[in-house]
Amino acid sequence: MGRLEGKNCIVTGAAGGIGLETCILFAREGANVLLSDISGPALEKAIEKLKSVVPNAKKLDTKITDVSKEADVKAMIEHVDSWGGLDVIFNNAGIMHADDADAIDTPEKIWDLTQAINVKGVWFGSKYAVLSFRKHGKKKGSVINTASVVALVGSATPQLAYTASKGAVLALTRELAMCHAREGYRFNALCPAPLNTPLLQDWLGDDAEKRHRREVHFPTGRFGEAIEQAQAVVFLASDESSFVNGTDFVVDGGMSRCYITPE
Ligand code: NAD
Repeated sequence: MGRLEGKNCIVTGAAGGIGLETCILFAREGANVLLSDISGPALEKAIEKLKSVVPNAKKLDTKITDVSKEADVKAMIEHVDSWGGLDVIFNNAGIMHADDADAIDTPEKIWDLTQAINVKGVWFGSKYAVLSFRKHGKKKGSVINTASVVALVGSATPQLAYTASKGAVLALTRELAMCHAREGYRFNALCPAPLNTPLLQDWLGDDAEKRHRREVHFPTGRFGEAIEQAQAVVFLASDESSFVNGTDFVVDGGMSRCYITPE
């Protein structure tokens, strides 16, 4: 407990799977947490849940934000100015659109929407985080950007716009880590495996064949859980990871290291 004591943290996509689990752990570890999401009603449910499971949480607030809109992201980060400035941002909001497909069938508007949220949203979050760290004279700051294992290994069940967007997240995170290392600002990318969250599970539905196409590649034989990602994010957010910078932080049960899965 207390691993994030007094740190001012923002989580985007906070109403969903990884985001909400991370907010809960951040609050348990003593952080002040701004929950940010595009959906107001989902945010209200999320903060209610957070308050019920962490009754002694420090400062908590919500902010409706579309991460693809620069003015929204600027306002979100300015929200924590009155808390003493930002210490940690988890740029986690992302989409995987149902119409995303291969090179032939992906509609251009789905490509553009995916890049706007998954890539531009991470750029805006990183940009205003650096400006806030500097404004408040912070000597350290941690930015964690959600990528995916599909940025590391190819998938024969393609979502080309999504895969490209997550590759961009890895590349921009690495470069930001180098640009700001001497200021004490760390940037790491989280690479989750396919998870038991609505983003993927709603898309798979009860299609057994689609599920099997994925499950056969998991060394552990199961999808990951959002809480397993959140545990890694707490580490990357905290000072325990002070010498971890510019990494593709893979939390995938060994999936991307596997040639043949165990029987
Ligand atoms: P989720 O769908 O449960 O949560 C995503 C949240 O982002 C939702 O609450 C949604 O309202 C919000 N959001 C969507 N568009 C937004 C926007 N424009 N601005 C602000 N918020 C927006 O998904 P999750 O599984 O928790 O995914 C979180 C992140 O993890 C995403 O970036 C996703 O790509 C990534 N990821 C997920 C998986 C998986 O299998 N679920 C695997 C690898 C990576």
